[in-house]
Amino acid sequence: MSGQLRYDGQVAVITGAGGGLGKAYATFFASRGAKVVVNDLGGSFKGEGNSTKAADVVVNEIKAAGGEAVANYDSVENGDKIIETAIKAFGRIDILINNAGILRDVSFKNMKDADWDLIVKVHIKGAYKCARAAWPYFRKQKYGRVINTASAAGLFGNFGQANYSAAKLAMVGFTETLAKEGAKYNIVCNVIAPIAASRMTETVMPPEMLENLKPDWVVPLVAVLVHKNNTNENGSIFEAGGGHIAKFRWERSSGLLLKADDSYTASAIIKQWSKVSDFSNPQYPSGVNDFVGLLEESMKLGPSPQ
Ligand code: NAD
Repeated sequence: MSGQLRYDGQVAVITGAGGGLGKAYATFFASRGAKVVVNDLGGSFKGEGNSTKAADVVVNEIKAAGGEAVANYDSVENGDKIIETAIKAFGRIDILINNAGILRDVSFKNMKDADWDLIVKVHIKGAYKCARAAWPYFRKQKYGRVINTASAAGLFGNFGQANYSAAKLAMVGFTETLAKEGAKYNIVCNVIAPIAASRMTETVMPPEMLENLKPDWVVPLVAVLVHKNNTNENGSIFEAGGGHIAKFRWERSSGLLLKADDSYTASAIIKQWSKVSDFSNPQYPSGVNDFVGLLEESMKLGPSPQ
């Protein structure tokens, strides 16, 4: 995949494309031949209010540059309406970038149900509704490319973001399952944890750092992952920002294997705790069945030390 990647004849739906990362994706894909649905609810970064302006500005910019785009102003919670816009305007959908997002940062002690519920609704239900509505089209045409958006806060946790972290790590499990279900239909799904200057980050990072985190520098990774030639990376997790791209994976310690009988006690575990957290001979599981072999081995063992 070298040279300039093109998406001619393809339709890309980008949620939350009225600003930040979403706008960067939308203008890029339009400049490379895709027809783009620019979705944006147009509210505040805390998820308050709505407006048609954010999406309209991006659509006008794309059209002025000679590209094709239509606006959609629905909340991602109504993802079916967003996909319907793509079908009505362009007759198909090839690429879905679940990017829309908000923050309701507050320490866990002070978190209200409303802070939790809104984050779950926009990030988890939003990504679900868009992907669910696109799925029948992807399956029928045996082609689809999906990007879901996680966050470092989801991978590691972050003070004041219990709601956001939970929703963002959910994007990882969601992507891993869609990747497994979509593989035989050539539906490829990956998840990114981006870092970029946007209205979300402008209040928490110093200007000199933001200068080096242009949203445009997350775009090339997404461009590669949703290109038709990408059939290798499916269900993968990537971190991207400021020119750095890295892949994440699950790592399991070689672990402690005890016989599952009466000898399997708390004190037996404490005695050999170092084996539980010994990463010197790690495994890299990628499916639920990767655990079954360990269970079988455990059945064959003799009694555990007490
Ligand atoms: P942003 O606020 O500039 O963009 C998010 C866009 O989503 C906004 O234009 C907003 O109007 C739109 N939106 C919000 N709720 C919506 C809804 N219900 N329906 C439709 N549109 C809605 O922020 P950004 O930094 O560009 O964030 C893009 C994505 O990347 C988000 O999912 C965010 O959580 C994630 N992310 C960003 C960073 C970063 O460093 N900027 C880090 C980790 C994750």
